[in-house]
Amino acid sequence: MTQPPTIKQSYIDLLGMELICAAPKCRHSKLLPLQNFADDDTVITIAKRARCSKCGGKSVNVAPRWRPMKGSGLPV
Ligand SMILES: [Zn+2]
Repeated sequence: MTQPPTIKQSYIDLLGMELICAAPKCRHSKLLPLQNFADDDTVITIAKRARCSKCGGKSVNVAPRWRPMKGSGLPV
């Protein structure tokens, strides 16, 4: 079983972690900068600790936000 990379391993490529409440009526989301997390955090450990600040729900999805790669993708 492969482990998800830790924050430290992905630091250069990551902008932050987006936390999205899984409650269908809430869907509150927030992009948190990496400074909020420990070096050895992964999407799994963050999701375990996460709690929605709006509805208090403990089911929160964690989505890494990657830096756009140079020379790829469309300009926005
Ligand atoms: Zn919520």
